[in-house]
Amino acid sequence: MLNPNGVDESNILDSTNFDALGLNQSLVRALLEAGYTEPTPIQVQAIPKVIEGHDLLGIAQTGTGKTAAFSLPILHHLNAKQSESKARHPRALILAPTRELAIQIADSIKLYGSHIAFKQTSIFGGVGQNPQVAALKRGVDVIVATPGRLLDLVNQGLCHLGHIEYFVLDEADRMLDMGFIHDVKKIVAKLPRKRQTLFFSATMPKSVSALAGELLYKPVNVSVTAQATTVDRIDQSVIFTPQNHKLLQLVNLLSHDSVTSAIVFTRTKHRANRVSLALNKAGISSEPIHGNKSQGARQRALGAFKAGDIKALVATDIAARGIDVDAVSHVINFELPNVSEDYVHRIGRTARAGASGNAISLCAPDERAYLKSIEKLIKLSISVVKGIEVRDEDVPLPEPRGPRPPRRSNRPGGGRGFRGAKLSGEKGGRRKSDGQKQKPASAVGQKKRPAGSGNAGGRRRSQVPKTA
Ligand code: AMP
Repeated sequence: MLNPNGVDESNILDSTNFDALGLNQSLVRALLEAGYTEPTPIQVQAIPKVIEGHDLLGIAQTGTGKTAAFSLPILHHLNAKQSESKARHPRALILAPTRELAIQIADSIKLYGSHIAFKQTSIFGGVGQNPQVAALKRGVDVIVATPGRLLDLVNQGLCHLGHIEYFVLDEADRMLDMGFIHDVKKIVAKLPRKRQTLFFSATMPKSVSALAGELLYKPVNVSVTAQATTVDRIDQSVIFTPQNHKLLQLVNLLSHDSVTSAIVFTRTKHRANRVSLALNKAGISSEPIHGNKSQGARQRALGAFKAGDIKALVATDIAARGIDVDAVSHVINFELPNVSEDYVHRIGRTARAGASGNAISLCAPDERAYLKSIEKLIKLSISVVKGIEVRDEDVPLPEPRGPRPPRRSNRPGGGRGFRGAKLSGEKGGRRKSDGQKQKPASAVGQKKRPAGSGNAGGRRRSQVPKTA
């Protein structure tokens, strides 16, 4: 029976441990060692059905545990029926939209499968193909790949997909957004018709459900949130601010102790570079991460962020898809996305693995239309909070046009960007023009308030509060 979210409630078991889902003991052991004590809702719903052999249509955002939901039953099957020939043919193919996500999935599979015998390799572009080809030649059971490079290797005759039994298409909506649909279809054409297909997407626009319709046979539907609604545990707010005040607002937000690690989103790669540079000048350690960065640079930035060596990652939408860091306290939209679904993806980077999180958007007057369509999509009004007051003389100079290298300054701290502004490195918060101390922007670190008690966290647009 389907509930209002389209979830088949007969899938939901009463049990709350991995044993009861029917998984092999070697997998359960690895999960316990990884500190997973209870399956997440999508795991409870999906794992038994995939073990039974059903196709699956999963509507799930990142952070819900969907990687384990598809990996565990596949590993269970691979283990139950081991490859007999030494020159193994790949039996499971997982397609992901970005290199980072592919690496992340492969790491998870390695963890979950630490007590079973299987071989896997990751295939993605931006690095030499030889090690990938060598791994394929040695024989693998599982391939985790991005579409472009995989298709390349298939077309060169270096990768054969004729024995695939399990096919996973992860983040299908993003695949389509990124223009991978043709590559995906060409890859699917190489797969055996008789296979089990698992299809995951955070949102289900028409194009995605059409693709699901083509790929899936009588799928079981599982969904962990209603379509395109944002994760409940995220406290969302918006600060209305002119575009040229945004850097100062951002620096102020990131200066608060409650912001332990943040992903800052920009719409363009160039802007990500500029914002990261400005943050570093302001004493806030950050790295940009986007598609123009080499794979090595992206992995280094991610590693530094995960290790807590830098406070902020400044990311474009595409690059952020593979970021799986549990402890992101804040997502800050330096610019609102012009594709509303991207907002859902962005804020899903916080509140992962059961934690709560904060998402703050800086909205310039010309972005109000984007905000409106986001609110329409997520079906709630985002709370408006007041940012700091900004003096004209503190406003950064306009950015130079075009992708020019940053200008050097002889001034200590390289102070080109913020004439005279007191920035984050300085303790004690920003000052108002009259010299009074400015209260921190109320958006930072707040938990949901009871209805009617304030301006943040309510499910309605609240008034901009008067500052003290
Ligand atoms: P995903 O949605 O697959 O990207 O997973 C989000 C995060 O949740 C990852 O860091 C996983 O390691 C973690 N995770 C997945 N399933 C569980 C579980 N049952 N218990 C604890 N953590 C989990």
